[in-house]
Amino acid sequence: MKTRLPSYDWPVLEAGWVWLCGAGPGDPGLLTLHALNALRQADVLIYDALVQEAILDWAPQAEHIYAGKRGGKPSAIQRDISLRLVDLARAGRRVLRLKGGDPFVFGRGGEEAQTLVQHGVPIRIIPGISAGIGGLAYAGIPVTHRDVNQSVTFVTGHDQSGNATSSLDWAAIAKGSQVIVIYMGMKHIGQISASLIAAGRDASEPVAVVTSATTDQQNVLETTLGTVEADIAKAGVEPPSIICIGQAVRMRDVLNWQAQAAGIAPRNLDPLGRGRPAETA
Ligand code: SAH
Repeated sequence: MKTRLPSYDWPVLEAGWVWLCGAGPGDPGLLTLHALNALRQADVLIYDALVQEAILDWAPQAEHIYAGKRGGKPSAIQRDISLRLVDLARAGRRVLRLKGGDPFVFGRGGEEAQTLVQHGVPIRIIPGISAGIGGLAYAGIPVTHRDVNQSVTFVTGHDQSGNATSSLDWAAIAKGSQVIVIYMGMKHIGQISASLIAAGRDASEPVAVVTSATTDQQNVLETTLGTVEADIAKAGVEPPSIICIGQAVRMRDVLNWQAQAAGIAPRNLDPLGRGRPAETA
């Protein structure tokens, strides 16, 4: 079925252009309408590993090119992808570059966009719902909650070389950020959690590891900062996962809306123990 887009002055994907677009964290329903508009018009689609099959099916007219790679690979591959986009645009194609989540959040979208602009290729950026926000929402975790945090820190668990992010000041993050959301954190979570605890974070602090968020395979491991590494190993959790550290994780006790939809009662209606209706001042 081809759903019609609502009436609006939709932009046209012209020949020779590249639209760099976020596909959201998984659930195809989390695409933006601009993304759907792009899928309708593209004649070539270059997509990453984390983009769901169902989304690709919405561009049957386009040639589909897989450009998947997972963290830690040499940056030469990234350069190849960027230059491929340049070539396709120069060949007069209508190019849709589809990336998981938001293209400008830990997705190297900025690098691809820069290369395109440097080569004189016109671009459009279509933001998407990032896994660190939308994926946690599907797990019933609000990334901010005024009782818990006034800021949230999004970090990547490894750098370009695939090592733990040495450039990050984990002690400063431990002190300055009540809620920490880690992308690509699985590999180095032992080192990261140890650094945070060494900098004063409580080993009993709640942690959620949300795997394949928003997809049919979504799984949520609830653990603590002190036990997260062992629990990930024990449960055999595989990437992609978002790791959320902080008291906001406790809100899942009342906000696990997927469990509630399946008939499971909330574990605790007031998990932060505020003893007052949430909406009063
Ligand atoms: N641009 C993407 C992030 C790309 S980095 C975004 O904005 O979401 C890839 C990392 O994102 C993965 O290693 C994982 O940490 C996270 N991620 C992406 N999709 C995910 C999903 N459906 N569930 C859990 N984590 C996800």
